[in-house]
Amino acid sequence: MCGVAGVFGQSEAASWTCEALFAQQHRGQDSCGLCASDGERLHLFKGMGLVKEAVPPSLLKELPGHGAIGHVRYPTQGEATLPNAQPFLFVKDGTPLFALASNGDITNLPELREEIEKRSYRFDGTNDGEVIAKAIGSWAFDDGMGIEAAIAKWMRVGMGAYSTLLLTPTEFYAFRDPHGFRPLSVGEKDGAAVLTSETVGLDILRARFIEHIPAGAIRRWGPGGPRSSVGAVSKKLDHCIFEHIYFARPDSYVFGEKVFEVRRRIGEALASGDTVQADAVVPIPDSANYIGMGYANARNIPIVMGLVRNHYVGRTFIAPVQLMRDETVRLKFNPLPGFFEGQRVVLVDDSIVRGTTIRKLVRMLRENGAKEVHLRIGSPPIRYSCYYGIDTPDRKYLIAAERSPEQVADVLSADTLRYLTLEGLHSTVSKPGDYCYACFTGDYPAGKKRA
Ligand code: SF4
Repeated sequence: MCGVAGVFGQSEAASWTCEALFAQQHRGQDSCGLCASDGERLHLFKGMGLVKEAVPPSLLKELPGHGAIGHVRYPTQGEATLPNAQPFLFVKDGTPLFALASNGDITNLPELREEIEKRSYRFDGTNDGEVIAKAIGSWAFDDGMGIEAAIAKWMRVGMGAYSTLLLTPTEFYAFRDPHGFRPLSVGEKDGAAVLTSETVGLDILRARFIEHIPAGAIRRWGPGGPRSSVGAVSKKLDHCIFEHIYFARPDSYVFGEKVFEVRRRIGEALASGDTVQADAVVPIPDSANYIGMGYANARNIPIVMGLVRNHYVGRTFIAPVQLMRDETVRLKFNPLPGFFEGQRVVLVDDSIVRGTTIRKLVRMLRENGAKEVHLRIGSPPIRYSCYYGIDTPDRKYLIAAERSPEQVADVLSADTLRYLTLEGLHSTVSKPGDYCYACFTGDYPAGKKRA
């Protein structure tokens, strides 16, 4: 999972882009990058780690110009290395012609990469964004079709998820795959176009939200004013439902829904028909907070923030190495002293992937005196891997892949376990037919990725 941001038509475009990336830091913490245009040349910066640590304040003065794009990265394809950090520059005959930053994974990457390699291009890393950049660059400049037509060609042949920004010295493009897997929002401030994966990136700049880029659309800003075209016809939308369940910030507006409201409805749907007796509902912070509120209100059970999260540790789900993940679970949560003694607790989480975190938390609650621990999960069992930009592991590591809910409860040492049903999940969004549910059903709308 990653986040993108871009600004066009503002003299401090790089600073604005940096702020919008900062607001989207939750979408990727391993590396970040910025590219600015001064109208003639492109200036690129990439660094490892968080935006606030990697981007020196002096750098923003050295990245002048009216246009900029940026990226925060969590690796789903390729290692967490600087060559895989984005944006990518497309360089021809020693001249950088454009920069590109993308969120999402491409499922037919090997074929596309092979085609570009046959054209004598070499790859510095193993990331999808580099393939998109070199494919579009080669078609645009080697074949002479121009950038807009090359983007449209990409959108006909590239399969999978991409919400992408492209910056030339004088133009700015945004385009989104025809399924609309990942979000991409457009805003406006002081006449400048502002683009961000999530609307929290617009909020931090006080930019006015205009629209979500439609799936399959190309938007272009530059000389002659803004322009829109269709890159690919969208047959069916497949927004990632996990943006609502877990990934997006609750204060974002994603796919036409307020994320915190969807999460509250998830909690209400999860409570429907549940009769378990409990003294307190404890959500696992932060992503399950609103799900917990919805559940607790519907069941009329007090909600207590019984686990305190240390915010200086990265999100467990996106720690890339198993060893790091185990350490961060212990570092990340601490129970309120004495609170769990003799309590019957409903412990609410948004999802279970491997089960590593929640198993340790159940044990922690019992060690702190909890009499009963009932798990309530705001999504159906995750039984299949994601190939569209979320780092779920290989299927064999998914705790629910081959287990029934009762067997999962057993492995996690929970008294009971209840998942949200798929039908219950459908009831939480206004257009349930416009979403991808492949990690629950195995029904992949844009193919599977091969190594
Ligand atoms: Fe989202 Fe799951 Fe579809 Fe991946 S497979 S895009 S995580 S709903």
